[in-house]
Amino acid sequence: MNELTCLVVGGGYAGIHAIHSIQQAFNKAGGTRRVQIVLIDKEPYHLRKVLLFKPAAYKEEITIPFARMFPDIQVVRGTVGWIDPEKKQALYRDAEGQEHALAYDIAIVTVGSIARAPESDQGGIALTGLETAAAIRQQWQENLRQAAGETDPAEKQRLLTTVVAGAGISGIETSAELAWIMRQEAEALHIDPEMIKVYLINAQARLFPEGPAKVGRRLEHKLHDYGVTVMHGVKTLQEKEGKVSLSSGEAIPAGLCVWTLGLLPNPALREMGLPLTADGQVIVDASYRVQGMPGIYSIGDCARIVDPATGRADTMTCKEGGAQASRLGTIVLADLNGRPAPQHKGYMDAYCFGLGGERGMVWTRQWGLDMIITGRLGWKVRQYTWDIASLLKQPHRKLRKDDANA
Ligand SMILES: Cc1cc2nc3c(=O)[nH]c(=O)nc-3n(C[C@H](O)[C@H](O)[C@H](O)COP(=O)(O)OP(=O)(O)OC[C@H]3O[C@@H](n4cnc5c(N)ncnc54)[C@H](O)[C@@H]3O)c2cc1C
Repeated sequence: MNELTCLVVGGGYAGIHAIHSIQQAFNKAGGTRRVQIVLIDKEPYHLRKVLLFKPAAYKEEITIPFARMFPDIQVVRGTVGWIDPEKKQALYRDAEGQEHALAYDIAIVTVGSIARAPESDQGGIALTGLETAAAIRQQWQENLRQAAGETDPAEKQRLLTTVVAGAGISGIETSAELAWIMRQEAEALHIDPEMIKVYLINAQARLFPEGPAKVGRRLEHKLHDYGVTVMHGVKTLQEKEGKVSLSSGEAIPAGLCVWTLGLLPNPALREMGLPLTADGQVIVDASYRVQGMPGIYSIGDCARIVDPATGRADTMTCKEGGAQASRLGTIVLADLNGRPAPQHKGYMDAYCFGLGGERGMVWTRQWGLDMIITGRLGWKVRQYTWDIASLLKQPHRKLRKDDANA
């Protein structure tokens, strides 16, 4: 019986689901092939990235140590810089900067994306990681403390105003959570919670262009009820000296400007030696095989993955990365056994939003019908999806027809 080494590069959402999927596929195949999985990540933990708005609002742990998550597999802490398909090695630097090589038979590249940041002269704080989330939290808390003692009404209102620039899912969730927590904290400091103003600046004409306009409108109404004012069709230019200037010519006096500008493929990919699209995503076929590099697969935010039936490319979301990963184990096994492998299929239309506190909204389209769940039930579904994404709950997955045939 031959044992293969499967190296998973990156333990984000796609990476951890890939590990699970490969383990399941090999266990199901039973005995003929064995796999040893090695996970390498530059961090010692899985970052629950979609929850970054939480530590921006209050103290909340959103990392899970890999040692706890995967006690049975080898976990290496290191930053992979280069993958050599000839020698079947990944070269990486450890935390002390020393270079090493890791041999593999199969490599899964899931190094994800980074949050887009504004130019350095644009001011504000971009929600890009744990450090900036903590800086955002400190800033709004300090603003509220100062506002409690402020006698000038205009300055007080400025300190109680926050602008969130960028109205994708991250901007929506961040603005709602900040409005909710800042109102709570205001009450505790004997400040009228109605004085808390959160503006969500949307460069698009409406919210949620990924779904129907009526869902975008419903979201906007909910946000309004929860203390967030959405401004459409304007760009945020700069935060300077307590004012946030917009492309419309307006300037909002604000104590804090938070940027949530979307994602870029991991720039480290440019050095890794893999074939990339002009946008910097790894080029793969419909079964996630990296172009011209047998034995290397790539999924998640770092790969450009197109549904061969519809021609539609997946976007950068954890639900899509998770669905790709759930298919990957069967693909790898099928390739090893020389059998036809399953191909990518786009994920169903479904989006969840946390809207501050224990409130949320879920939209999905089934059989041509729009289904919307709001309120506490919407939040419970949202929480469930967060937990599934980080393997804290096991999704109920039916065996796919194509998977069963592989
Ligand atoms: C603020 C924010 C909010 C978001 N909200 C949502 C949301 O509500 N819903 C949704 O679906 N998506 C959301 N996203 C997008 C979602 O987080 C990504 O789609 C998801 O994280 C992609 O998973 P991934 O595994 O492909 O990559 P990542 O989660 O980026 O994981 C990549 C992993 O690779 C590691 N790594 C990177 N470079 C190297 C290297 N050179 N060597 C070794 N390891 C490396 C990283 O440490 C990380 O663990 C949000 C993103 C952000 C930033």
